[in-house]
Amino acid sequence: MKLACAPAVKSGLSKQLSIVNETKPGVKKLAIGQYDGGLEKDNEKRGSVVSGEAAEILALDHSVHTERPIGDWSLHSFEIGRPLGKGKFGRVYMARTKKEPHYIIALKTLYKSEIVESKVEKQVRREIEIQTNLRHPNILRLYGYFHDEKRIFLMLEFAGKGELYKQLNKNGRFSERRSARYIDQMADALQYLHSKHVIHRDIKPENLLLGINGELKIGDFGWSVHAPSNRRKTLCGTLDYLPPEMVLGKEHSEKVDLWALGVLTYEFLCGNPPFEDLNGYNATYKRIAKVDLHVPSSVSAEAKDLIERLLVFEPEKRLPLSEVLTHPWIVKYRSSAKLSKGEAA
Ligand code: AMP
Repeated sequence: MKLACAPAVKSGLSKQLSIVNETKPGVKKLAIGQYDGGLEKDNEKRGSVVSGEAAEILALDHSVHTERPIGDWSLHSFEIGRPLGKGKFGRVYMARTKKEPHYIIALKTLYKSEIVESKVEKQVRREIEIQTNLRHPNILRLYGYFHDEKRIFLMLEFAGKGELYKQLNKNGRFSERRSARYIDQMADALQYLHSKHVIHRDIKPENLLLGINGELKIGDFGWSVHAPSNRRKTLCGTLDYLPPEMVLGKEHSEKVDLWALGVLTYEFLCGNPPFEDLNGYNATYKRIAKVDLHVPSSVSAEAKDLIERLLVFEPEKRLPLSEVLTHPWIVKYRSSAKLSKGEAA
């Protein structure tokens, strides 16, 4: 559960978007690929107009939610390019603003009536408002949003190298260097989130994207429910990252993210999560509840030490993020800031 929202956005949207071009000078020249007409096709047969309180909750328009109006965006503001993927509530496309200097974004559609059917309208609204206010190099930016009768459109930072999960599937597992670099970025992003009183609660490879330089981007804030085809294949996929306190139905705090960071470290290095049990949910629950952890000998002593300090039953005894960031395994690989060529996805 996210506990609070960051301060309201004060700068203009064009200023926010210009960050894309400032940090990546070549980005506006990127080809956006061929549009397949999917938005119109989808819109003919999908969704319905929502009314009443739900319609009010989902009337999400960034320009009226901020202190100063920040542009009047609509679907006509963009050239639409290639499809990037499908989520549960709609499609994601690469897009470019028609106006100079032709910013590149990922445009995500969410069908309002489908959100209402899933009874997550308040959650969607809250998550969108939270993500809009977050600013961190390893957290996917949400530049703005607008809506029409049936849909909400999210203007997201384009994650040029796609899903981290696909890389993990392709490679089986990651090297120690690559894993440590990702965990370093993840810990930094989590420290930022926790400083804003936001608990992520759903860290797993499926929720992570990769930027154009292979940098990690936390890309999912709960409102984005993924299509099953992209998801983990095992039966107990969603349980694998749950900490004992959640499995046992106890109260939980931001320390759940520390546990998940330990699970993520293990999965990057070993290719599977530590408490996975092919005998099903109950078996996984039991293994989590008693912290039945076995780190294979292929994992270095330093990485094993970090995993064991994070996967601790008692939430208060888990290694704090400040100490993850100074852990020898993390520091060891930080000097080589870029992933080596073969590893940069
Ligand atoms: P989602 O609804 O977030 O699951 O998005 C569906 C798919 O679209 C994802 O699995 C990604 O492959 C792709 N996608 C979503 N957001 C982005 C983005 N910001 N940049 C690039 N690809 C994205």
